[in-house]
Amino acid sequence: MSKTGSFAIELYCSKCGKTYALNEIHQLCECGAPLLVRYDLESAKAVLSADTFRNRPANLWRYKELLPVADDENIVSLGEGMTPILPLSKLGRKIGLPDLYMKDEGVIPTGTFKARGASVGVSRAKELGVKKLAMPTNGNAGAAWSIYSARAGIKAEIIMPEDAPKITRNECAAAGAELYLVRGLISDCGKIVAKHVKENGLYDASTLKEPYRIEGKKTMGLEIAEQFDWKLPDAIFYPTGGGVGIIGIYKALRELKELGIIEGKLPKLISVQAKGCAPIVRAFEKRKEASEFFEDSQTIAFGINVPKALGDFIVLKALYETGGTAVSVSDEEIIEAVKELAANEGTFVCPEGAANFAAAEKLVKSGFLKETDRVVLLNTGAGIKYPDTLTAEVPYLEKMV
Ligand SMILES: *Cc1c(COP(=O)(O)O)cnc(C)c1O
Ligand SMILES: [Zn+2]
Repeated sequence: MSKTGSFAIELYCSKCGKTYALNEIHQLCECGAPLLVRYDLESAKAVLSADTFRNRPANLWRYKELLPVADDENIVSLGEGMTPILPLSKLGRKIGLPDLYMKDEGVIPTGTFKARGASVGVSRAKELGVKKLAMPTNGNAGAAWSIYSARAGIKAEIIMPEDAPKITRNECAAAGAELYLVRGLISDCGKIVAKHVKENGLYDASTLKEPYRIEGKKTMGLEIAEQFDWKLPDAIFYPTGGGVGIIGIYKALRELKELGIIEGKLPKLISVQAKGCAPIVRAFEKRKEASEFFEDSQTIAFGINVPKALGDFIVLKALYETGGTAVSVSDEEIIEAVKELAANEGTFVCPEGAANFAAAEKLVKSGFLKETDRVVLLNTGAGIKYPDTLTAEVPYLEKMV
């Protein structure tokens, strides 16, 4: 069995610090907070440098020393990662941010960055001998975990709100997942999953209830650093639901810094939410350490319709410690941004990704961002996964006679 060379050594609690063994199944800490993976960065430092990664295959497993999978044969991959960083020169100049970029996760397997978390999460589940997992989802995560579970030979039980996009429903079903719909929100689905997990001894793959999805999402941060030649941008925008992506990016950058691969100030991390579901923004504005449940949440950007995130306190910490901020935008602004990005830059992005652009425009106007700032927006998914977001008015031509 060939080893990946992973420097992962243990799990630790993001709140109380209690540690857990890596070779056993663990979900949340006893105290109820998410567990994170700790790496032996001291030893890694002696072996790893920026050059280590240079000539490796263009997928996220190029960083396998900084990922939690121990054996190569447990890696479940569809070629995810190393997505392009596209300059948004035209729109950047238009809004007063000439050094504006978009990292495009729309071109990844399953069409959203959820593939990253699923690839690493399912690989670890396989390594730990999991036979069946369960998770609540707004659609994209369920689709990605169903697809990767199918590849790994793991059974997946997926529970989603009936409003979640039909396309993700079809993906789960096609991949052979056991799929159920709920008349309610993702938080309602989560309660049912928790019950099934308890009653049937399933592996709980809910956001942050297993420690490995975040390691997959961490690779977005590793890639941004590498793609900018290990010189970090000034700000990174992230459409925030459960917050796994932003926590992952923050973790990645701190690990790279500890390894001495990057230096200087970390980029300002910026959480973007929809006005109809903005618990992190509300908490940030009051400088709170955690968020409150956002009642009656609603937005077309369903990937970020998460009224209360388990890891909210880690997201907020990442914002405070990097000098970042949290911004909300309306669904109308999101739709406008989808059209503007497609028409000016040729990028047809998901509503969550478009929200970033609308937010960047606001932060230039408010003076939070300067014209000289290098700014990266994460487009978390493909616009074509959201066939109903836009309604185009198209004229018919007369029949030729
Ligand atoms: C899940 C999702 C998000 C939010 O991701 P978190 O890491 O949970 O905050 C953003 N955009 C899309 C397209 C998603 O599917
Ligand atoms: Zn704890």
